[in-house]
Amino acid sequence: MPDDLQQLGEFGVIELFRQAARPSGSRVVAGIGDDCAVMRVSEAEYLLVTTDMLVERVHFLREDISPRQLGRKSLMVNLSDIAAMGGRPTAAFLGMGLTADLRGEYLTEFRDGLLECASDYKVDLLGGDTVAAQADLVFCLTVLGVTKPDQLVTRAGARPGDRIMLAGIVGDSAAGLHLLLNKSGQQLEHDYEKLIQAHLEPQAQVGLGHLLASKKLVSAMIDVSDGVLQDLAHICRASAVGADILADKLPLSEQACRLAKSVGHDALEWGLSGGEDFILMFCCSEDKEDQIRNCCLTELGTQVFTIGTITKDKKIRVNSKGVWLDRSVMGYDHFRGA
Ligand code: ADP
Ligand code: MG
Repeated sequence: MPDDLQQLGEFGVIELFRQAARPSGSRVVAGIGDDCAVMRVSEAEYLLVTTDMLVERVHFLREDISPRQLGRKSLMVNLSDIAAMGGRPTAAFLGMGLTADLRGEYLTEFRDGLLECASDYKVDLLGGDTVAAQADLVFCLTVLGVTKPDQLVTRAGARPGDRIMLAGIVGDSAAGLHLLLNKSGQQLEHDYEKLIQAHLEPQAQVGLGHLLASKKLVSAMIDVSDGVLQDLAHICRASAVGADILADKLPLSEQACRLAKSVGHDALEWGLSGGEDFILMFCCSEDKEDQIRNCCLTELGTQVFTIGTITKDKKIRVNSKGVWLDRSVMGYDHFRGA
């Protein structure tokens, strides 16, 4: 076994814990390895639990995101994991590591952003923990949610022939991050603000996830937090399948494409491997594709995009303009970087 974190990688580290932790409770439906853990509460209800942490200088720079936006985002990224299982969020717990220089006003703004988001999604803040941190702020949210046993959607149900769909545009968050990290002091073109907003103010697709799950339209689902390719690899691994992606079908915004061109970047790269879009990606049998497209549009006004097909071969292949691309970098890994 590799002995350093860079070789092990983020998912190697998680695997180290997953292999050794053997859930013994008969109520455990799913443990480490999906967007949420799942526990049986009764015949009629499953409890969903997820936790995600935002660390200063790793996930955000204090000067780039307002405390109100940070409060919203720290809850939103957890709501997105509940959405990925098709559930409804119910309660949140807030752990904070606070540095001594923090002003009271920063904290109340953070609180207001978080509670505003909680109220939007009908989630109650029910507890947490508060400690001192030496140098960097840490915000760790745990969110509970519920779903019905027959509506649970995991990463594990994709079957060969299934369509792979995305419930929105990807790559905007990575393009926004590029703008934040490469500020030149000059005024941004007005419509580039949308890219920064995608990065700082993501929206969890809770209603959409619940709609797809309650109508039993999808076979597997995940939220795109680490990039389309990496998150698709999680679905493939859990479902023991592969995937063929048509890169030309990837929904990229006109702004991201224009920015990429002007800075010599590849917008496709932002779309395939950029993280933090928090858009839902799901698989469905071919005969459900049109129904999903129509119901997402008519009931929620959301356009969905088909980007590829699940295959038997346990490989992910990307085709662009008829050419199979060589993909070595899949997405974000905390110990390997992009
Ligand atoms: P997501 O991007 O959906 O939040 P992650 O990639 O962070 O999911 O985590 C993948 C899986 O590994 C999840 O089931 C998560 O609960 C689990 N996990 C991550 N870190 C740990 C850890 N330190 N101990 C146990 N489980 C972990
Ligand atoms: Mg997730």
